[in-house]
Amino acid sequence: MKYDVIIIGAGPGGIFSAYELVKQNESLKVAVFEGGNPLEKRKCPIDGKKVKSCIGCPTCAIMSGFGGAGAFSDGKYNITNAFGGTLYEHIGRDQAIELMRYVDEINVTHGGEGTKMYSTAGTGLKKVCMQNKLNLLDASVRHLGTDINYVVLENLYAELKDKVDFKFRCEVERLEMIGEEGTVVQEADEKAAACQANGGAYRYRVHYAGGSDECETCIISVGRSGSKWMQQVCEELKIPTSSNRVDLGVRVELPAEIFSHLTDELYESKIVYRTEKFEDNVRTFCMNPYGIVVNENTKGIVTVNGHSYEDPKKQTKNTNFALLVAKHFSEPFKDSNGYGESIARLSNMLGGGVIVQRFGDLIRGRRSNEKRIEEGLVRPTLAATPGDLSLVLPKRILDGIIEMIYALDKIAPGTANDDTLLYGVEVKFYNMEVEIDQNLETLYKGLYVIGDGSGVTHSLSHASASGVYVARHIAEKRK
Ligand SMILES: Cc1cc2nc3c(=O)[nH]c(=O)nc-3n(C[C@H](O)[C@H](O)[C@H](O)COP(=O)(O)OP(=O)(O)OC[C@H]3O[C@@H](n4cnc5c(N)ncnc54)[C@H](O)[C@@H]3O)c2cc1C
Repeated sequence: MKYDVIIIGAGPGGIFSAYELVKQNESLKVAVFEGGNPLEKRKCPIDGKKVKSCIGCPTCAIMSGFGGAGAFSDGKYNITNAFGGTLYEHIGRDQAIELMRYVDEINVTHGGEGTKMYSTAGTGLKKVCMQNKLNLLDASVRHLGTDINYVVLENLYAELKDKVDFKFRCEVERLEMIGEEGTVVQEADEKAAACQANGGAYRYRVHYAGGSDECETCIISVGRSGSKWMQQVCEELKIPTSSNRVDLGVRVELPAEIFSHLTDELYESKIVYRTEKFEDNVRTFCMNPYGIVVNENTKGIVTVNGHSYEDPKKQTKNTNFALLVAKHFSEPFKDSNGYGESIARLSNMLGGGVIVQRFGDLIRGRRSNEKRIEEGLVRPTLAATPGDLSLVLPKRILDGIIEMIYALDKIAPGTANDDTLLYGVEVKFYNMEVEIDQNLETLYKGLYVIGDGSGVTHSLSHASASGVYVARHIAEKRK
């Protein structure tokens, strides 16, 4: 088949590109190739009874399929340039915000109408944070919740399925550039030179098990799960890249009342603390009021995450959030993600999965056990192995987290209670950054890289906005 545009990956980046492309020009022939399943077939086999841990499915139902990594997420769409990616560096701050608002409108009109938008604008909490050496970052956040996020995705798919060719369970194995005479250009250097010489009149061919299709324009939106594949494409086509950071830390779980003055007003507060000891930045991440702590499986490595539901019947008595420290390696060791993976593996080795520890036990230098957790005030929402996080996390990171917990205790007394639970490790991996220009286009005309796979975005709102941006650019060029 020959398409005008092929999109690789049906996460938020890919979905919003497809949405905007057909909105701008209904006659465009667009295909979306997705390695995972359609939304209704995405089902993780872990049920806590028969299947207790990851069995390594051919495609991970949590990370892949229509909706991408965001499908079962908490559905927090943050409208801000302060975190969630650096899209603004490419397209400008105002445009980035405008596109995030546009994405929000689409979410609201596709099932999210009853959900709430929270904002830090005018909050007195900013001052309270500042008085305690904490920096509350500015943002508005729409909390869809895992349940409504799913409904929005269902509605988007229903609207798009007759206008766009969706190919599920169809992982793109290889991407080829086709020259003017239909020949495959073999050498990367030759490709680059020829491409520039003929004004970039290249087409792209995607290969998958059992076939191949061609297009004039290709949008790569493969997210975190496609990071290795993205790296391979960049190596083959000699697209420059640079290494990105890794964030390491723990997930904190405490009674929801302790944070309710923050979460009722802001839902999610992104707070940054600069440690006194090492002058490292520790930040809160992914706050889930009345939520649950969950396992996350990245290629067999079990880490921790969290989410919450909009439906009060599914809510718990606890709030959870991550405390993370960013690490970026450059010379001679560059593999920031490898470092994060090794620490997560160590915790898996000691705990058989995620480790949980009471804050009081951590401070007293002893491991937690079933009895101490059972006697504590906080009921864990995830069945994790009681253990000792100080045997897993590097001292510098752990010291930073402890300092931050005491700092948070000043604005939310009770955070540093003995019974506060810490789950580890939480790791946030980032893709290497792909060199793309102000149009999110690579050095090859017609080849775009968007969303988390580009290393430029790290969130639902930024990934979605990058999809809309590229779609508008492509539609404009074709006029
Ligand atoms: C548990 C969890 C909770 C989260 N909660 C939030 C939140 O509340 N707010 C927030 O802003 N962010 C959240 N995130 C992050 C958010 O989900 C991502 O930032 C976002 O999904 C990135 O979108 P994307 O389209 O770039 O990539 P993805 O969503 O990762 O989608 C990429 C898609 O490409 C497919 N793919 C990969 N390689 C290929 C290939 N070779 N061929 C075909 N298909 C391929 C994958 O199967 C996948 O479906 C969460 C993430 C997780 C895992």
